[in-house]
Amino acid sequence: MHAPAPATPDQDPTLAALLAARPHLAMHAHDGLVMEGVALNAVADALGTPCWVYGAGTLRRRLDSLTAALGGLARVHYAVKANDHLALLHLLGGAGAGADVVSGGELARALAAGIPPGRIVFSGVGKTADELRAALAAGIAQINVESAAELDQISAVAAAAGRVAPVALRINPDIDAGTHAKITTGLAHNKFGIPYADAAALYADAAARPGLLPVGLALHIGSQILSVAPYRAAFARAAALVRDLRAAGQLVTRLDCGGGLGIGYRDEAGAAPAAFAGALRSAFTGLDLELMVEPGRWLVGPAGLLLATVLLTKGGQGMPPFVVLDAAMTELMRPALYDAWHGIVPLDPARAAGPAVPVDVVGPVCESADTFARARPLPPLLAGDRVAILDAGAYGAVMSSTYNARPLAPAALIDGARWAPIRRRQTVAELWRDESVPTFMG
Ligand SMILES: *Cc1c(COP(=O)(O)O)cnc(C)c1O
Repeated sequence: MHAPAPATPDQDPTLAALLAARPHLAMHAHDGLVMEGVALNAVADALGTPCWVYGAGTLRRRLDSLTAALGGLARVHYAVKANDHLALLHLLGGAGAGADVVSGGELARALAAGIPPGRIVFSGVGKTADELRAALAAGIAQINVESAAELDQISAVAAAAGRVAPVALRINPDIDAGTHAKITTGLAHNKFGIPYADAAALYADAAARPGLLPVGLALHIGSQILSVAPYRAAFARAAALVRDLRAAGQLVTRLDCGGGLGIGYRDEAGAAPAAFAGALRSAFTGLDLELMVEPGRWLVGPAGLLLATVLLTKGGQGMPPFVVLDAAMTELMRPALYDAWHGIVPLDPARAAGPAVPVDVVGPVCESADTFARARPLPPLLAGDRVAILDAGAYGAVMSSTYNARPLAPAALIDGARWAPIRRRQTVAELWRDESVPTFMG
């Protein structure tokens, strides 16, 4: 499913290679770039740019292929933070996925999208009393706990509400997932999880407290993980801990194995569901555990893109020229935040066929970090040309801001040959709708 390797490791894939690796995208001689069965120009004509576009068929296919690879071994809890749009949650929930949420807002979204509380897990390193009360009132499946202090807090909230909170201890397995420093979470110096060495004592402690029912363990070692080795190492540590806990007389029924499965942004091969399922199988077969997995990026990343229009081009004093888009880091922050590489493809087939020369693709926001690509080989682009920024379905719209007073962008959902707007563009007046000027200012 991935592009042929480029001639040298540093050479960016060609536009043809990018499209060949993404079966939901195709360049039509007449309609230009098409996602599933819809010309992206039609969406841009209707909603303007910048604009998010998601492929329902692509998303469904990805969930189906992961579910098939897991073969009943583990339940999929979609990590809502990757993309929390109600339509996507509705689609995934309807196709059988549960949800992993990290805030009261995400919990409310998952419930609003119709995901049953029994399929919702609440993760995160800090939760407010209000969030915990909402989770207990909804009757969600479990709360993943990341510290002794949090156990105290949940015990108090649950006891006061006359409820018992099913909790899983999130352990920090101290495994290097080999990913970007800003998205690794399973190392001892990261803020996440309970130190492995403390977990057994804390589990026993939780079992003895009012309002708590320890049901198992959870782990999540990072994001954009492309190799199965860190999973194997983390799962082995988790399995050993399950055996130790049981030997000490504790009841351990569930193991939440986290997310982190990576995708191919450039020319790297994405994580393979079969290999991931194999790691689960070899670590946990025979342990009689209810397994859960929490992928976010792998499910929605490739199913979304960001449409933008070229505002202008300008020469860069002896450097690659700049292509200035109407999209910015306010829509897609990943390049600014993580130096992330995203494919950029013109919508016009004639443009896409032109000879590639290196350009810097930037947004109009007043930050040097507002850069989508440096020295990217692209065919010559002119003001008014449209481009698609690929693989932007995860950690895209959810990280948007209104910096520079830029209204939030609209979104569309394509499903085969049909499409519908799923979010209108925020108006400029809405930017200050909730602000007030104190009367004492006259
Ligand atoms: C972010 C997160 C995930 C999802 O990570 P992806 O890399 O998008 O798969 C899963 N579980 C937890 C606890 C997370 O914080």
